[in-house]
Parts: sequence; C-alpha cells; structure tokens
Amino acid sequence: MFDGSVPLAVKFLFGSLLAASASAVSTNDDDALKPNYVSSMLSPVEGSSVKPRLCAARAKFPLRVVVLNSFYFSDAYYSAIKQACEAWSEATKNVPGGGATLTCVDSDDVKGADVVFLMCTRETLGGFSGFTTELGAGAVIRLSAFDPDGHRVTAQSLKRVAMHEFGHALGIWGHSPDPNDAMSLSEKAAKVSQADVNTLRAAYSGHGLSIQQKSGAWMFVQGSK
Ligand SMILES: [Zn+2]
Repeated sequence: MFDGSVPLAVKFLFGSLLAASASAVSTNDDDALKPNYVSSMLSPVEGSSVKPRLCAARAKFPLRVVVLNSFYFSDAYYSAIKQACEAWSEATKNVPGGGATLTCVDSDDVKGADVVFLMCTRETLGGFSGFTTELGAGAVIRLSAFDPDGHRVTAQSLKRVAMHEFGHALGIWGHSPDPNDAMSLSEKAAKVSQADVNTLRAAYSGHGLSIQQKSGAWMFVQGSK
C-alpha cells in the first residue's frame, strides 16, 4: 500500500513491476534494477540443468540456515558456507525481517530450517560440485567435499559453490552468462555482483514484496499493491 507521499516516479515503477509480474517469468526493464541478467537467463545456459525462472522463494525473513554436521564437515567449511550466505546480505537486507540467520547444527535436527546445507561426495551429486533442490517451503543445498580429482575441495572453492547454490535457494533458478556473477556456471566469481543483487531484487519485486526508493536507496516493503 502506498500513501499520498509516494513520488510519481515510484508509482510508475510499481506499475511497470506489476505489469511485468503478469508474465510467467517477470522481466524487469526498469533502470533501478540494472544491471541484471533477468532477460538473458530466460534462455537456458549451455550445460545448465536448471530450468530458468525467478521466484521469491524465501519471502519470509530472516532465514534459518542450518549446516548439518557430517563426516565431511570441518570448521573451515562451516566458515566458508557462512561467508557465502553473508555475501547475499546486500541483496536481502532490505526484505522485511532482513537477511539470513545462520545456525550450525551438529545433528540431524533440521527443525525450523529454511535452508539446509549438507556435505557429500561428488558421486552422490552426479559429478556436480553443488546441487540445490526445493523441499516444501525450504531448500536443501548439497555440496561436494571433493573436487573432480577426488581431493578435498579448498574452503575458498567451497565458498564459491555455496554462494552460487544459495542464490538458487533464494530464488534465482537460472544462470548468468557473465563469469563475474556468482550465478554464472564458471564458479570463478569471488563475490555476489551488483547484477546478482539486482536479479534477486527483480525476483522478489513481483511476489508479495515491493520495492520503493527511500533516500536514494531501493528498499523492499511488504505488499505488492
Ligand atoms: Zn547453478
């Protein structure tokens, strides 16, 4: 809901967002959310197993992220996963409730978890370094503890994969063609890019959360109309 103080430009933005969300996968042409790769990810990237779509999959913040302890777990891996989640904080911090809360659980207790990380072998993942599946209202992210040569992955490498997979869990079900983006298939990006942030914001803007400009910053607000 908007009161009378909302500037005309913002109202115009809402109009364009609502119009865009009417399509199966919304495209957002508004300059406020550029750069993004919403349009390019609508065409499947070669080698990608993900059917491209955007969704406000985790519209209830804060998130409870659980890292399951396991045989393959280590403190260094936990730190890497934590950093990967925090890398998305810019993209989610203005969502009501604000961002992800990470909790490490050293048992099978995933009660109340929105996102669960677990470590496994590469064979279990069919050769992938990471794999994300939706489970009810939550997501399960499986990360391989081993590289293709059978060696333990470095914490830095794990962080990049975890960052990419967390982007899927948050609602970007597609890939960027730009290797500088966390959501590219290159696994080269060391941080969440502005295009990653904007693409996630585009996903959330049409699904119960709206975006408006306050003091020069784009903020999420509850409600879409
Ligand atoms: Zn992916």
